[in-house]
Amino acid sequence: MSRSVLVTGGNRGIGRAIVERFLAEGHKVCSADFGGEAPAGALGVNCNVTDAAQVDAAFAAAEAAHGPVEIVIANAGITKDGLIMRMTDEQWDAVIDVNLKGCFYTARRAVKSMMRNKYGRVVFMGSVVGLYGNAGQVNYSSTKAALIGMARSLTREVGKRGITFNVVAPGFIETEMTAVLPAEVTDGFKAQTPAGRMGSVDDIANAVAFLTSDGAGYISGAVIPVDGGLGMGH
Ligand code: NDP
Repeated sequence: MSRSVLVTGGNRGIGRAIVERFLAEGHKVCSADFGGEAPAGALGVNCNVTDAAQVDAAFAAAEAAHGPVEIVIANAGITKDGLIMRMTDEQWDAVIDVNLKGCFYTARRAVKSMMRNKYGRVVFMGSVVGLYGNAGQVNYSSTKAALIGMARSLTREVGKRGITFNVVAPGFIETEMTAVLPAEVTDGFKAQTPAGRMGSVDDIANAVAFLTSDGAGYISGAVIPVDGGLGMGH
């Protein structure tokens, strides 16, 4: 069945792979992003997720083109790393705004039409560091941990309406976000990862495709690690 899908931050990295995966499966996809170009075949909507009005407008555009949004991937996220003594208020606020407030705006708007339709699949893009922690990422890891509370509270609020909310927690994935890291950091992560390699964007798209499928309707409030074993036990 072809569904109406909206992916935030779908023009690059993990989000782009997710958009391409949904398109390949025959879904109608909107990429809500504020830079770059949406993959061919997707509806690209300029949207900064830190602005509720822009999030509303993106959903309205997706609905006009594809019908009520049934699958939402709250994927847009940024890092502004720094050790706590040197982390500025701006670094803290910027990451909270995109990674946490952006997901709140996205989920709030998503639930509105999903409640009416009594069907929905929402996936939040978390991270292994939400539970594992990571020096230099107090802001980032706090937002990723918070998404677990968000998914679980929403599951309790509207779980009876046929809507699921889950968190995918990627480990170390090859994208532009991680390309900027020095080789010793990358090598260190690889050494800690039982799979012995970085993940690919398709590894994440596979998990998202499963969680948003019709058959995954009894999975909600779950945290699905896709991290080669890096975060095991957390
Ligand atoms: P990228 O930086 O490669 O891509 C992020 C995308 O989100 C970009 O298209 C970016 O737009 C967009 N974006 C950023 N801010 C906003 C905003 N305010 N409004 C709308 N779109 C925005 O990141 P990744 O693909 O690596 O990461 C995707 C998600 O996965 C993030 O939530 C990240 O935290 C998470 N993650 C990534 C891991 C990794 O190893 N890569 C590991 C764990 C989690 P623009 O091009 O304009 O910057």
